[in-house]
Amino acid sequence: MGAVHCDIHGRQIGGPLCCEHLRDASSGGATSDGVAPDPEAVTRLTLDFTGDGSIMWETVLCHVCAIRFGRVDGEVVSDVESVADNSNPTEGKALPWIAPSCGPCVVRWKRGLRRG
Ligand SMILES: [Zn+2]
Ligand SMILES: [Zn+2]
Repeated sequence: MGAVHCDIHGRQIGGPLCCEHLRDASSGGATSDGVAPDPEAVTRLTLDFTGDGSIMWETVLCHVCAIRFGRVDGEVVSDVESVADNSNPTEGKALPWIAPSCGPCVVRWKRGLRRG
């Protein structure tokens, strides 16, 4: 699903897909929209890209995105195509912008550790 380059961990493949706030927070940057993701309140989804379970991808959203886009922890999303990039969640459940992240950074962030 795409590699990311982490300035600490180098090239990373296999990290979870994250909302922009978790990506920013876990990589030590400032987050947009004044959102401060809470490591204790993340929402984990599994995206079933093909609808048959053959390509499943872990996704982590901050609590703000989860509420805004109507997602709940532990959910399996099998209609990825139809909900991806839907910026108008009033029409139903949607997904925020998500992108691959550095796995080790996300793990450390969730534990409340500093990067490194
Ligand atoms: Zn978010
Ligand atoms: Zn990293």
